[in-house]
Amino acid sequence: MSGTSNEGHPKRRRAAEYDGQQFGTRAIHAGQEPDPTTGAVIAPVYMNSTYVQHGVGEFAGYDYSRTDNPTRRALEIQLAALEGGDHGIAFASGMAATSTVLQRLQPGDHVVCVNDVYGGTFRVFTKVMERHAGIEVTFVAMRDAAAVADAMTERTKLVWVETPTNPLLNVIDIEAVAKVAHERRALLAVDNTFATPFLQQPLSLGADIVAHSMTKYLGGHSDVVGGALVVNDDALADELRFLQNAVGAVPGPMDSWLVTRGIKTLHLRMERHCENAAAIAQALEARDDVEQVLYPGLESHPDHAIVQRQMRAGGGMISFRPSGGVERARELCAATRVFTLAESLGGVESLIELPGLMTHQSVAGSDLEVPADLVRLSVGVEHVDDLVRDLEHALETTTHLVGSSSGATA
Ligand code: PLP
Repeated sequence: MSGTSNEGHPKRRRAAEYDGQQFGTRAIHAGQEPDPTTGAVIAPVYMNSTYVQHGVGEFAGYDYSRTDNPTRRALEIQLAALEGGDHGIAFASGMAATSTVLQRLQPGDHVVCVNDVYGGTFRVFTKVMERHAGIEVTFVAMRDAAAVADAMTERTKLVWVETPTNPLLNVIDIEAVAKVAHERRALLAVDNTFATPFLQQPLSLGADIVAHSMTKYLGGHSDVVGGALVVNDDALADELRFLQNAVGAVPGPMDSWLVTRGIKTLHLRMERHCENAAAIAQALEARDDVEQVLYPGLESHPDHAIVQRQMRAGGGMISFRPSGGVERARELCAATRVFTLAESLGGVESLIELPGLMTHQSVAGSDLEVPADLVRLSVGVEHVDDLVRDLEHALETTTHLVGSSSGATA
């Protein structure tokens, strides 16, 4: 394939065009032009791999769908507009997006990564990039940005932050870490999957790259897997687009369209996710048989001051440790009826899981191992009364296990 750029094509509009609009308006309209052929208000799903050329190398903006596709392009414009960036780049999964950022690096380069990170991110850093690409990674707690500076060397090219972190829900000061990274000429990438651009926009706080698992809140309905990067810098965007095409981990048109549709209600869903999660966190915190509740929206959260500065609200994720240790935590996960026991997060339906044995198994035995009795909730948009009642019922039916264990961590 020629890989010819489609500069000048009407669909390659810069997201800056939507700058004056409020979040909800951008979510619905950015990149979502009516179909020019039929006038359909919702543009069709362009289910095609190739495009007619009227002469060799003469084509109307698109030549091959790994390189570019109108449905994917509509999503990429929407993503950029939401994050307040100039370039959105979509991938087949969150891990494909993360890997693409790492593929820019050279053997011998060094990365500083937050020490509480999604298990799959830890796995690709340590088992793929360190092992096969000669990249060195140091994991550090980032509550104090000075720790990032201490971990950096002259070979550090990238600082990787996830905030709030998965699953401990620590909140990292993006502005402070960006300053430290830039003083040493490293780029800052922020995985914004948990917060979404509705709650925080890392580019405006100094980040160079925003990464997403679109599988979560952006898609919002647990029916699609996808990933994204958003950047402002034109040269960086060109590099990432080159890798997107060269490596080829792109989302298909149907997946792109599903995420586009999900994003149109992101602001509405996030408001309800946050309201529900705040109410549940308070209800859990008020109980004697819950040892610890981790929720960025609670005043008791150790990073609450940063949350107030950096995030619009506390988000839809809660982690907590019930009294009774891992045995009760495990029973609890099986005892809910509205909360479904499943991995993943960010859908309209509430989920419950045990990270130590499920999503974060890949960090077992490492310094990043999570407490075995930690329960993680992805709070959905069902009626809050039903959610609180469901958790209270599950806690009450497992009280016989309180005192059966020391609440041991793994
Ligand atoms: N980043 C975070 C914070 C995640 O929670 C996940 C998945 O759970 C990923 C990235 C990876 O995304 P995906 O499963 O779409 O590859």
